[in-house]
Amino acid sequence: METNDTMEKVIALCKRRGFIFQGSEIYGGLAGFWDYGPLGVELRHRIKQSFWETFVSGRDDMYPVSTSIVMNPRIWQASGHVDTFKDPTEDGKQFNVMFSTSVGAGEEAATSYLRPETAQGMFVNFKNIQDTFHPKLPFGMAQIGKAFRNEISPRDFIFRSREFEQMEIEYFVRESEWEKEFESWRGAMLAWMKSIGLPTEKIHELEVPAEDRAHYSKRTTDFEFDFPFGRKELCGLAYRTDFDLRNHSTASGVALEYFDEETGERFTPHVIEPTFGVDRSILAILVSAYTEDELGGEKRVVLKLAKHLAPVRVAIFPLLKNKPELVAKAREVCTDLKKQFGNVVFDDNGNIGKRYRRQDEIGTPYCVTIDFDTLGEKPELLNTVTIRDRDSGDQRRVKIEDLKAEVGL
Ligand code: ATP
Repeated sequence: METNDTMEKVIALCKRRGFIFQGSEIYGGLAGFWDYGPLGVELRHRIKQSFWETFVSGRDDMYPVSTSIVMNPRIWQASGHVDTFKDPTEDGKQFNVMFSTSVGAGEEAATSYLRPETAQGMFVNFKNIQDTFHPKLPFGMAQIGKAFRNEISPRDFIFRSREFEQMEIEYFVRESEWEKEFESWRGAMLAWMKSIGLPTEKIHELEVPAEDRAHYSKRTTDFEFDFPFGRKELCGLAYRTDFDLRNHSTASGVALEYFDEETGERFTPHVIEPTFGVDRSILAILVSAYTEDELGGEKRVVLKLAKHLAPVRVAIFPLLKNKPELVAKAREVCTDLKKQFGNVVFDDNGNIGKRYRRQDEIGTPYCVTIDFDTLGEKPELLNTVTIRDRDSGDQRRVKIEDLKAEVGL
Protein backbone atom coordinates (compact mmCIF):
# COMPACT_ATOMS: atom_id res chain seq x y z
CA MET A 1 0.00 0.00 0.00
CA GLU A 2 3.10 2.22 0.10
CA THR A 3 2.38 3.92 -3.18
CA ASN A 4 1.04 7.18 -4.46
CA ASP A 5 -2.29 5.46 -4.27
CA THR A 6 -2.01 5.96 -0.50
CA MET A 7 -1.36 9.66 -1.06
CA GLU A 8 -4.46 9.99 -3.20
CA LYS A 9 -6.55 8.20 -0.62
CA VAL A 10 -5.19 10.28 2.25
CA ILE A 11 -5.70 13.53 0.34
CA ALA A 12 -9.28 12.48 -0.51
CA LEU A 13 -9.98 11.53 3.11
CA CYS A 14 -8.56 14.85 4.33
CA LYS A 15 -10.92 16.75 2.05
CA ARG A 16 -13.95 14.53 2.59
CA ARG A 17 -13.75 14.58 6.37
CA GLY A 18 -12.60 18.15 6.92
CA PHE A 19 -8.92 17.82 7.77
CA ILE A 20 -7.22 19.73 4.95
CA PHE A 21 -8.53 21.64 1.92
CA GLN A 22 -6.79 23.16 -1.05
CA GLY A 23 -6.15 26.85 -0.26
CA SER A 24 -8.28 29.37 -2.21
CA GLU A 25 -10.15 26.39 -3.62
CA ILE A 26 -13.22 28.21 -5.00
CA TYR A 27 -10.85 30.37 -7.06
CA GLY A 28 -9.01 27.41 -8.48
CA GLY A 29 -6.45 27.26 -5.66
CA LEU A 30 -2.97 28.74 -5.27
CA ALA A 31 -0.08 26.30 -5.58
CA GLY A 32 1.68 25.58 -2.31
CA PHE A 33 -1.03 26.84 0.05
CA TRP A 34 -3.39 24.70 2.10
CA ASP A 35 -6.23 25.37 4.52
CA TYR A 36 -6.98 23.27 7.57
CA GLY A 37 -10.54 22.35 8.54
CA PRO A 38 -11.86 21.52 12.01
CA LEU A 39 -10.28 18.06 12.33
CA GLY A 40 -6.99 19.18 10.79
CA VAL A 41 -6.83 22.08 13.24
CA GLU A 42 -7.35 19.67 16.15
CA LEU A 43 -4.63 17.31 14.91
CA ARG A 44 -2.25 20.22 14.35
CA HIS A 45 -2.98 21.62 17.75
CA ARG A 46 -2.29 18.28 19.42
CA ILE A 47 1.01 17.77 17.61
CA LYS A 48 2.17 21.21 18.70
CA GLN A 49 0.97 20.54 22.22
CA SER A 50 2.94 17.30 22.31
CA PHE A 51 6.07 19.10 21.09
CA TRP A 52 5.52 21.80 23.69
CA GLU A 53 5.03 19.41 26.58
CA THR A 54 8.07 17.37 25.60
CA PHE A 55 10.55 20.07 24.71
CA VAL A 56 9.39 23.26 26.40
CA SER A 57 7.10 23.03 29.44
CA GLY A 58 8.41 19.58 30.35
CA ARG A 59 11.97 20.90 30.78
CA ASP A 60 13.44 23.60 32.94
CA ASP A 61 16.05 24.91 30.51
CA MET A 62 13.77 26.30 27.78
CA TYR A 63 12.76 29.88 27.06
CA PRO A 64 9.95 30.07 24.52
CA VAL A 65 9.31 33.16 22.40
CA SER A 66 6.87 34.17 19.72
CA THR A 67 8.54 36.62 17.38
CA SER A 68 7.30 38.58 14.39
CA ILE A 69 7.11 37.17 10.89
CA VAL A 70 8.35 40.40 9.32
CA MET A 71 11.59 41.73 10.79
CA ASN A 72 14.21 44.34 10.01
CA PRO A 73 15.67 43.28 6.61
CA ARG A 74 19.19 43.69 8.00
CA ILE A 75 18.54 40.50 9.94
CA TRP A 76 18.28 38.54 6.69
CA GLN A 77 21.44 40.18 5.37
CA ALA A 78 23.38 39.24 8.50
CA SER A 79 21.98 35.70 8.61
CA GLY A 80 23.15 35.07 5.05
CA HIS A 81 19.67 34.46 3.68
CA VAL A 82 19.65 37.42 1.26
CA ASP A 83 22.83 36.15 -0.39
CA THR A 84 22.48 32.41 -0.15
CA PHE A 85 18.91 31.23 0.46
CA LYS A 86 18.48 30.29 -3.17
CA ASP A 87 17.36 27.35 -5.26
CA PRO A 88 18.11 26.82 -8.95
CA THR A 89 15.25 27.34 -11.41
CA GLU A 90 14.83 25.03 -14.40
CA ASP A 91 16.99 27.22 -16.64
CA GLY A 92 19.84 27.26 -14.09
CA LYS A 93 19.34 30.66 -12.52
CA GLN A 94 19.58 31.05 -8.75
CA PHE A 95 16.27 32.18 -7.25
CA ASN A 96 15.97 33.50 -3.71
CA VAL A 97 13.03 31.69 -2.14
CA MET A 98 12.28 34.36 0.48
CA PHE A 99 9.00 36.17 -0.14
CA SER A 100 9.65 39.89 -0.17
CA THR A 101 7.12 42.43 0.99
CA SER A 102 7.11 46.17 1.52
CA VAL A 103 6.66 47.76 4.89
CA GLY A 104 5.14 51.24 5.16
CA ALA A 105 3.73 53.61 2.53
CA GLY A 106 5.12 55.66 -0.36
CA GLU A 107 8.75 56.66 -0.31
CA GLU A 108 9.14 55.52 3.26
CA ALA A 109 8.41 51.94 2.21
CA ALA A 110 11.17 49.46 2.95
CA THR A 111 11.57 46.02 1.46
CA SER A 112 11.59 43.18 3.94
CA TYR A 113 10.80 39.47 3.87
CA LEU A 114 8.40 36.97 5.33
CA ARG A 115 10.63 34.82 7.53
CA PRO A 116 11.77 31.58 5.85
CA GLU A 117 12.60 30.07 9.28
CA THR A 118 11.64 30.95 12.83
CA ALA A 119 15.25 30.60 14.02
CA GLN A 120 16.37 34.19 13.40
CA GLY A 121 13.61 35.59 15.61
CA MET A 122 15.23 33.66 18.44
CA PHE A 123 18.82 34.75 17.75
CA VAL A 124 17.84 38.42 17.69
CA ASN A 125 16.09 37.98 21.06
CA PHE A 126 19.03 36.20 22.66
CA LYS A 127 19.99 39.31 24.62
CA ASN A 128 16.43 39.88 25.83
CA ILE A 129 16.37 36.40 27.31
CA GLN A 130 19.79 36.89 28.89
CA ASP A 131 18.82 40.23 30.41
CA THR A 132 15.46 39.11 31.75
CA PHE A 133 16.07 35.50 32.86
CA HIS A 134 19.87 35.17 33.24
CA PRO A 135 19.87 31.51 32.12
CA LYS A 136 22.97 29.38 32.61
CA LEU A 137 24.42 27.37 29.73
CA PRO A 138 23.25 25.08 28.32
CA PHE A 139 19.78 26.47 27.70
CA GLY A 140 17.41 26.72 24.79
CA MET A 141 14.99 29.07 23.11
CA ALA A 142 11.96 27.58 21.39
CA GLN A 143 9.37 28.84 18.98
CA ILE A 144 6.43 27.48 17.02
CA GLY A 145 5.36 29.63 14.13
CA LYS A 146 4.70 30.12 10.45
CA ALA A 147 7.51 30.26 7.92
CA PHE A 148 7.27 31.09 4.23
CA ARG A 149 9.32 29.95 1.26
CA ASN A 150 8.54 30.73 -2.33
CA GLU A 151 9.32 27.13 -3.30
CA ILE A 152 9.96 26.80 -7.03
CA SER A 153 7.86 23.68 -7.30
CA PRO A 154 5.59 23.03 -4.33
CA ARG A 155 4.42 19.40 -4.36
CA ASP A 156 3.39 16.26 -2.56
CA PHE A 157 0.36 17.74 -0.79
CA ILE A 158 1.46 19.54 2.39
CA PHE A 159 5.01 18.14 2.22
CA ARG A 160 6.47 21.03 0.24
CA SER A 161 4.32 24.09 0.59
CA ARG A 162 4.99 27.80 0.45
CA GLU A 163 3.47 28.57 3.83
CA PHE A 164 4.12 26.11 6.63
CA GLU A 165 4.76 25.98 10.33
CA GLN A 166 7.94 25.13 12.15
CA MET A 167 8.70 24.00 15.67
CA GLU A 168 12.27 25.02 16.35
CA ILE A 169 14.73 25.04 19.19
CA GLU A 170 18.00 26.93 19.40
CA TYR A 171 20.00 25.21 22.10
CA PHE A 172 22.95 27.28 23.33
CA VAL A 173 26.03 25.39 24.48
CA ARG A 174 29.73 25.80 25.13
CA GLU A 175 31.71 24.99 22.01
CA SER A 176 33.48 22.12 23.79
CA GLU A 177 30.13 20.48 24.53
CA TRP A 178 28.53 20.57 21.10
CA GLU A 179 29.07 16.91 20.21
CA LYS A 180 27.63 15.66 23.46
CA GLU A 181 24.58 17.93 23.16
CA PHE A 182 24.11 16.98 19.50
CA GLU A 183 23.94 13.32 20.49
CA SER A 184 21.50 13.97 23.26
CA TRP A 185 19.18 15.91 20.90
CA ARG A 186 19.38 13.10 18.36
CA GLY A 187 17.97 10.73 20.94
CA ALA A 188 15.35 13.19 22.13
CA MET A 189 14.13 13.83 18.59
CA LEU A 190 13.81 10.13 17.81
CA ALA A 191 11.94 9.52 21.05
CA TRP A 192 9.45 12.27 20.24
CA MET A 193 8.86 10.94 16.72
CA LYS A 194 8.11 7.58 18.25
CA SER A 195 5.73 9.12 20.76
CA ILE A 196 3.58 10.62 18.00
CA GLY A 197 3.13 7.17 16.51
CA LEU A 198 5.64 7.18 13.64
CA PRO A 199 6.97 3.69 12.89
CA THR A 200 10.68 3.70 13.72
CA GLU A 201 11.54 1.48 10.77
CA LYS A 202 10.41 4.29 8.46
CA ILE A 203 12.73 6.88 10.04
CA HIS A 204 16.27 7.09 8.68
CA GLU A 205 19.11 9.31 9.75
CA LEU A 206 21.09 10.93 6.99
CA GLU A 207 24.44 12.50 7.74
CA VAL A 208 24.37 15.47 5.36
CA PRO A 209 27.69 15.82 3.48
CA ALA A 210 29.49 19.16 3.77
CA GLU A 211 28.67 20.28 0.22
CA ASP A 212 24.93 19.85 0.85
CA ARG A 213 24.78 21.55 4.23
CA ALA A 214 23.23 24.97 4.79
CA HIS A 215 25.72 27.85 4.82
CA TYR A 216 25.72 28.06 8.63
CA SER A 217 26.11 24.39 9.50
CA LYS A 218 29.15 22.30 10.50
CA ARG A 219 27.14 19.15 10.99
CA THR A 220 23.58 18.28 9.99
CA THR A 221 21.61 15.12 10.49
CA ASP A 222 18.40 14.95 8.51
CA PHE A 223 15.74 12.61 9.79
CA GLU A 224 14.18 11.19 6.66
CA PHE A 225 10.88 9.37 6.54
CA ASP A 226 9.56 6.82 4.07
CA PHE A 227 6.68 8.82 2.61
CA PRO A 228 4.62 7.10 -0.11
CA PHE A 229 6.41 9.32 -2.67
CA GLY A 230 9.89 8.45 -1.42
CA ARG A 231 12.34 8.88 1.43
CA LYS A 232 12.33 12.58 2.29
CA GLU A 233 13.35 14.96 5.08
CA LEU A 234 10.88 15.08 7.94
CA CYS A 235 12.97 17.12 10.38
CA GLY A 236 16.57 18.02 11.02
CA LEU A 237 19.27 18.59 13.56
CA ALA A 238 22.01 21.10 12.81
CA TYR A 239 25.10 22.36 14.56
CA ARG A 240 24.98 26.03 13.63
CA THR A 241 28.21 26.88 15.50
CA ASP A 242 28.28 30.51 16.69
CA PHE A 243 27.56 31.68 13.14
CA ASP A 244 24.26 33.45 13.82
CA LEU A 245 25.04 35.15 17.13
CA ARG A 246 28.42 36.29 15.86
CA ASN A 247 27.02 37.72 12.62
CA HIS A 248 24.20 39.53 14.40
CA SER A 249 26.67 40.95 16.91
CA THR A 250 28.83 42.33 14.13
CA ALA A 251 25.96 43.63 11.99
CA SER A 252 23.94 45.20 14.81
CA GLY A 253 26.82 46.41 16.94
CA VAL A 254 25.15 44.80 19.99
CA ALA A 255 27.25 42.16 21.75
CA LEU A 256 25.44 38.82 21.85
CA GLU A 257 27.60 37.03 24.35
CA TYR A 258 27.42 34.90 27.44
CA PHE A 259 29.08 35.93 30.66
CA ASP A 260 30.24 33.10 32.87
CA GLU A 261 30.02 34.47 36.41
CA GLU A 262 32.22 31.74 37.85
CA THR A 263 35.19 32.08 35.52
CA GLY A 264 34.65 35.70 34.47
CA GLU A 265 34.81 34.55 30.83
CA ARG A 266 32.80 36.27 28.08
CA PHE A 267 32.16 34.31 24.85
CA THR A 268 29.71 33.61 22.05
CA PRO A 269 27.76 30.40 22.70
CA HIS A 270 27.44 27.74 20.01
CA VAL A 271 24.09 26.44 18.85
CA ILE A 272 22.47 23.04 18.29
CA GLU A 273 19.23 23.36 16.36
CA PRO A 274 16.52 20.68 16.31
CA THR A 275 13.89 21.75 13.76
CA PHE A 276 10.55 20.14 12.95
CA GLY A 277 7.87 20.97 10.41
CA VAL A 278 4.32 20.79 11.75
CA ASP A 279 2.90 20.05 8.31
CA ARG A 280 5.42 17.35 7.45
CA SER A 281 4.74 15.75 10.83
CA ILE A 282 1.02 15.78 10.08
CA LEU A 283 1.61 14.14 6.71
CA ALA A 284 3.90 11.46 8.16
CA ILE A 285 1.32 10.74 10.85
CA LEU A 286 -1.58 10.55 8.39
CA VAL A 287 0.12 8.24 5.89
CA SER A 288 1.30 5.99 8.72
CA ALA A 289 -2.12 5.88 10.36
CA TYR A 290 -4.12 5.27 7.18
CA THR A 291 -5.25 1.65 7.18
CA GLU A 292 -7.71 -0.40 5.17
CA ASP A 293 -8.85 -3.56 6.89
CA GLU A 294 -11.84 -5.79 7.43
CA LEU A 295 -13.96 -5.86 10.53
CA GLY A 296 -16.82 -8.30 10.97
CA GLY A 297 -16.60 -9.19 7.29
CA GLU A 298 -16.87 -5.55 6.23
CA LYS A 299 -14.13 -3.46 4.64
CA ARG A 300 -13.34 -0.24 6.41
CA VAL A 301 -10.90 2.66 6.42
CA VAL A 302 -9.42 3.46 9.79
CA LEU A 303 -6.92 6.09 10.91
CA LYS A 304 -4.82 4.44 13.59
CA LEU A 305 -3.72 7.69 15.19
CA ALA A 306 -1.92 7.81 18.53
CA LYS A 307 -4.72 8.38 21.02
CA HIS A 308 -3.40 11.66 22.34
CA LEU A 309 -3.39 13.11 18.82
CA ALA A 310 -6.86 12.03 17.68
CA PRO A 311 -9.01 15.05 16.74
CA VAL A 312 -11.98 13.42 18.50
CA ARG A 313 -11.27 11.38 21.61
CA VAL A 314 -14.73 9.96 22.22
CA ALA A 315 -17.94 9.84 20.19
CA ILE A 316 -21.19 9.35 22.10
CA PHE A 317 -24.13 7.64 20.40
CA PRO A 318 -27.73 7.12 21.53
CA LEU A 319 -28.66 3.72 20.07
CA LEU A 320 -31.75 5.20 18.43
CA LYS A 321 -32.34 8.75 17.35
CA ASN A 322 -36.08 8.80 17.93
CA LYS A 323 -36.08 7.77 21.60
CA PRO A 324 -35.90 10.99 23.63
CA GLU A 325 -34.84 9.19 26.81
CA LEU A 326 -31.81 7.64 25.02
CA VAL A 327 -30.92 10.96 23.41
CA ALA A 328 -31.19 12.82 26.71
CA LYS A 329 -28.96 10.32 28.51
CA ALA A 330 -26.41 10.40 25.67
CA ARG A 331 -26.37 14.20 25.77
CA GLU A 332 -25.81 14.11 29.51
CA VAL A 333 -22.86 11.71 29.19
CA CYS A 334 -21.47 13.76 26.30
CA THR A 335 -21.64 17.07 28.20
CA ASP A 336 -19.93 15.55 31.20
CA LEU A 337 -17.05 14.03 29.22
CA LYS A 338 -16.70 17.17 27.12
CA LYS A 339 -16.13 19.22 30.27
CA GLN A 340 -13.20 17.01 31.09
CA PHE A 341 -11.65 16.36 27.66
CA GLY A 342 -13.02 18.94 25.22
CA ASN A 343 -12.85 16.85 22.07
CA VAL A 344 -15.94 14.72 22.60
CA VAL A 345 -18.76 14.61 20.05
CA PHE A 346 -22.40 13.51 19.97
CA ASP A 347 -23.67 11.65 16.91
CA ASP A 348 -27.15 10.25 16.29
CA ASN A 349 -27.05 10.27 12.51
CA GLY A 350 -27.66 6.96 10.70
CA ASN A 351 -27.35 3.43 12.03
CA ILE A 352 -24.69 2.54 14.59
CA GLY A 353 -22.54 0.72 12.01
CA LYS A 354 -22.35 3.84 9.86
CA ARG A 355 -21.47 5.96 12.85
CA TYR A 356 -18.63 3.59 13.75
CA ARG A 357 -17.28 3.79 10.18
CA ARG A 358 -17.35 7.59 10.26
CA GLN A 359 -15.43 7.71 13.54
CA ASP A 360 -12.95 5.05 12.35
CA GLU A 361 -12.16 7.19 9.33
CA ILE A 362 -11.18 10.16 11.46
CA GLY A 363 -9.30 8.06 14.01
CA THR A 364 -11.61 8.37 17.04
CA PRO A 365 -10.23 5.87 19.57
CA TYR A 366 -13.47 5.31 21.51
CA CYS A 367 -17.17 5.15 20.65
CA VAL A 368 -19.67 4.96 23.50
CA THR A 369 -23.24 3.78 22.96
CA ILE A 370 -26.17 4.49 25.26
CA ASP A 371 -28.87 1.80 24.93
CA PHE A 372 -31.95 0.62 26.78
CA ASP A 373 -29.88 -1.30 29.31
CA THR A 374 -28.20 2.00 30.21
CA LEU A 375 -31.64 3.19 31.25
CA GLY A 376 -32.23 0.05 33.32
CA GLU A 377 -34.11 -2.34 31.01
CA LYS A 378 -31.93 -4.98 32.59
CA PRO A 379 -31.71 -3.55 36.11
CA GLU A 380 -28.24 -4.98 36.73
CA LEU A 381 -26.96 -2.98 33.72
CA LEU A 382 -28.43 0.37 34.83
CA ASN A 383 -25.98 3.22 34.13
CA THR A 384 -23.63 1.09 32.05
CA VAL A 385 -22.70 1.76 28.41
CA THR A 386 -20.81 -0.04 25.67
CA ILE A 387 -17.40 1.25 24.77
CA ARG A 388 -15.88 0.22 21.46
CA ASP A 389 -12.20 0.16 20.66
CA ARG A 390 -11.28 1.63 17.26
CA ASP A 391 -8.49 -0.76 16.31
CA SER A 392 -9.98 -4.09 17.37
CA GLY A 393 -13.66 -3.20 17.11
CA ASP A 394 -14.13 -4.97 20.46
CA GLN A 395 -16.93 -3.76 22.70
CA ARG A 396 -17.13 -3.87 26.46
CA ARG A 397 -19.73 -2.80 28.97
CA VAL A 398 -18.56 -0.30 31.54
CA LYS A 399 -20.13 1.88 34.21
CA ILE A 400 -20.74 5.50 33.25
CA GLU A 401 -18.87 6.55 36.38
CA ASP A 402 -15.77 4.71 35.07
CA LEU A 403 -15.87 6.24 31.59
CA LYS A 404 -13.46 9.09 32.30
CA ALA A 405 -10.80 6.66 33.47
CA GLU A 406 -11.54 4.32 30.52
CA VAL A 407 -11.01 6.99 27.87
CA GLY A 408 -8.24 8.83 29.72
CA LEU A 409 -4.85 8.33 28.14
P1 ATP B 1 14.03 20.54 2.03
O1 ATP B 1 15.44 20.06 1.78
O2 ATP B 1 13.01 19.45 2.00
O3 ATP B 1 13.64 21.75 1.22
P2 ATP B 1 15.13 22.06 4.10
O4 ATP B 1 16.37 21.29 4.40
O5 ATP B 1 15.20 23.28 3.29
O6 ATP B 1 14.01 21.07 3.52
P3 ATP B 1 15.04 23.21 6.68
O7 ATP B 1 15.54 24.51 6.18
O8 ATP B 1 15.93 22.32 7.46
O9 ATP B 1 14.40 22.39 5.46
O10 ATP B 1 13.67 23.48 7.46
C1 ATP B 1 13.37 22.88 8.69
C2 ATP B 1 12.09 22.07 8.62
O11 ATP B 1 11.02 22.86 8.11
C3 ATP B 1 12.16 20.86 7.67
O12 ATP B 1 12.73 19.75 8.32
C4 ATP B 1 10.72 20.65 7.34
O13 ATP B 1 10.07 19.88 8.33
C5 ATP B 1 10.14 22.05 7.35
N1 ATP B 1 10.04 22.57 5.98
C6 ATP B 1 11.01 23.16 5.25
N2 ATP B 1 10.56 23.53 4.04
C7 ATP B 1 9.25 23.17 4.00
C8 ATP B 1 8.22 23.31 3.01
N3 ATP B 1 8.45 23.90 1.84
N4 ATP B 1 7.00 22.83 3.30
C9 ATP B 1 6.74 22.24 4.49
N5 ATP B 1 7.67 22.10 5.45
C10 ATP B 1 8.91 22.55 5.23
